[in-house]
Amino acid sequence: MKVDELGDWRRTHTSTDLGPKLDGKDVTVMGWISSIRKQGKIIFVLIHDIKGDIQVTAITGKTSEKMLTKLQSLSLHSVIAIKGKVKSISKAPQGAEIIPEEIKILNTSEIKPPFSIFGGELPGIDKRLDMRSLELRRPKPQAIFRIRHTTLVSVREFLSNNGYLEVQTPKIIASATEGGASLFPVLYYDKEAFLAQSPQLYKEQLTMCFEKVFEIGPIFRAEPSRTLRHLAEIVSIDLEEAYVSYEDVTKTLEKLVQHTMKTVADKCEEETKELGITITVPKLPFKRYTYTEIINVLQETGFKINWGADLSTSALKKIGEIYPDFYFINDWPTASKPFYIKPKSDKPEISESFDLMAGSLEISSGGTRVSSRRLLTNRLKDQGLKPKLFEKHLDLFDHGMPPHAGFGLGMDRLMMILTQEENIREVTLFPRDRLRLTP
Ligand code: ATP
Ligand code: MG
Repeated sequence: MKVDELGDWRRTHTSTDLGPKLDGKDVTVMGWISSIRKQGKIIFVLIHDIKGDIQVTAITGKTSEKMLTKLQSLSLHSVIAIKGKVKSISKAPQGAEIIPEEIKILNTSEIKPPFSIFGGELPGIDKRLDMRSLELRRPKPQAIFRIRHTTLVSVREFLSNNGYLEVQTPKIIASATEGGASLFPVLYYDKEAFLAQSPQLYKEQLTMCFEKVFEIGPIFRAEPSRTLRHLAEIVSIDLEEAYVSYEDVTKTLEKLVQHTMKTVADKCEEETKELGITITVPKLPFKRYTYTEIINVLQETGFKINWGADLSTSALKKIGEIYPDFYFINDWPTASKPFYIKPKSDKPEISESFDLMAGSLEISSGGTRVSSRRLLTNRLKDQGLKPKLFEKHLDLFDHGMPPHAGFGLGMDRLMMILTQEENIREVTLFPRDRLRLTP
């Protein structure tokens, strides 16, 4: 079918602008066709645009033959522009429909999509991800990504209003920050470099000049296994602050989570309705347990785990059954945390660290950082890392590095909680994992 150029046509109204008070007005609307229905002499075409549907109503005898033929020849998903007159009618989406006078077919949809976005049986996530942007025309992912937008805006607003400076740090880096295993190497001119696993060292350094910083940006982890909560590229909300300890930053973190959930609950009523969920704004403070208490509770239920072990997926599942809400696990064994986490002065086998959990899902990790060069060098060695590789970072610690603390909060995991989705892929536009690098 011949398609038309956009030419000098411009949209005058979107679906949300329309309403009965525009009765009689000439408008130009554009969108993709979400439904075509013939009822006797009338053809109803729904076109979907940025935020809703517009009803275009053509009537045999009144609408030109040419227009009628064109409308009937179109398939779902075709993209059209209509010039016409608004007519107030209570049954139409915004209480108004358009009586078409001119049409441009901007693109056709000639191949039937591999799945229907209008209901009926939906294939598994892998098939849907293969045609992600088409899939994103569905109401459910539309709701999810509008909530994601609101979440981002709300996090930015909360942190900016509390005096944190938004920063951007490099994503191509020279050495590992969290240990080497999960790094993606990249060829950087003639050298080997890596994709950043976290902005850790940069955000720590920035506390010596800006004191309070945050970053919302991608981090990369070559996760060896495919799970419902791990991806190879995620968005991390990182915060770092001078002159505070881990206890202070847990307070900031819980307020941030509460604020964000409240904002989404207030602003995304339509979206949460679409998802069939209600957001319960959590009360503060969140419960705090120590790692040792959690191990004891697990052992009491008969779960086999020794002090010092990391919490496996099955351990997390068990804990999530006992504590389904938000809670902190504090004071982890020093050996299980990265080198930059500060051991307690009076009990160095335990660290000033925390994980924020939502049931069985870890959504954030943080702690007080080591701010002494000597201790940091020893910690690097303890973890089998070469201080030489971190020399430029360590040098700064000779020039007045303030005591500082911070956290990394997984944006995608936060989204899983906000939308009550079990698979992280549902809340990420174009997820990356061991088996997926496209689209
Ligand atoms: P996990 O134990 O769940 O693999 P982690 O402890 O290795 O996570 P951290 O290094 O503590 O992760 O990163 C801080 C936060 O970033 C995590 O709490 C989580 O929200 C998020 N995160 C880290 N790695 C991933 C990943 N591969 N996929 C999704 N989110 C992640
Ligand atoms: Mg962690």
